[in-house]
Amino acid sequence: MPDYESERNNLVDNLRRRGYISSPAVDHAMRHVPREEFLPEDLKEDAYVDSPLPIGEGQTISAPHMVAIMAEQLDLKEGMTVLEIGAGSGYHAAVCAEIVGPEGHIYTIERIADLATFAEANLKRTGYGKNVTVIFADGTRGLPEHAPYDRIFVAAGAPDIPSPLTEQLADGGKLLVPVGGRYYQDLIRVEKRGEKLVKENLGGCVFVPLIGEHGYQ
Ligand code: SAH
Repeated sequence: MPDYESERNNLVDNLRRRGYISSPAVDHAMRHVPREEFLPEDLKEDAYVDSPLPIGEGQTISAPHMVAIMAEQLDLKEGMTVLEIGAGSGYHAAVCAEIVGPEGHIYTIERIADLATFAEANLKRTGYGKNVTVIFADGTRGLPEHAPYDRIFVAAGAPDIPSPLTEQLADGGKLLVPVGGRYYQDLIRVEKRGEKLVKENLGGCVFVPLIGEHGYQ
């Protein structure tokens, strides 16, 4: 049985050295969430390689450095309400749940039923079931019933920023979304300031496509 805990600490040390992790909150969260619990049985031993891995249905769990970048850029705080599009394995949602704490909540949407079930089971088993709600739906429409959100992030590549997501973002809120082609995107950060959307390009990234009404067909 591999020593997952020391592998996890080594990976986090490495992500700090490479500059992907800088805040105590993200450091703490990534040292606590067991990534191996969000992988299919035969891939668990690769949990602490800094790489995306297949989780079935042609989808992937994001690489740890990408989860770290997004968690740092989102600037999550305790008590926040967060919306994720693309639950996948549930790992990224668990990292966010660790940061927002017991007063916060993560809603995460997944369009593939088997993955929604997989994510939910992984989150329950690792103790994040209370603070994370998995919803089986098209996330490009957002989730109006719990809006507005302090933070929103999309874990799949979109052709454009889905308009329901900027509408459901709180004033002062932040949204992260990979925008570009089907195989390569730029990670865009949007800050909502009253009527204004302030956008910044954080650089290149690679995500599976966002498929839905306000995504790819
Ligand atoms: N955050 C995940 C990785 C996400 S991979 C993790 O930590 O494991 C991207 C996921 O987005 C895939 O599971 C894919 O099925 C899902 N997806 C793509 N389009 C979607 C949509 N419109 N709504 C919800 N989920 C979507």
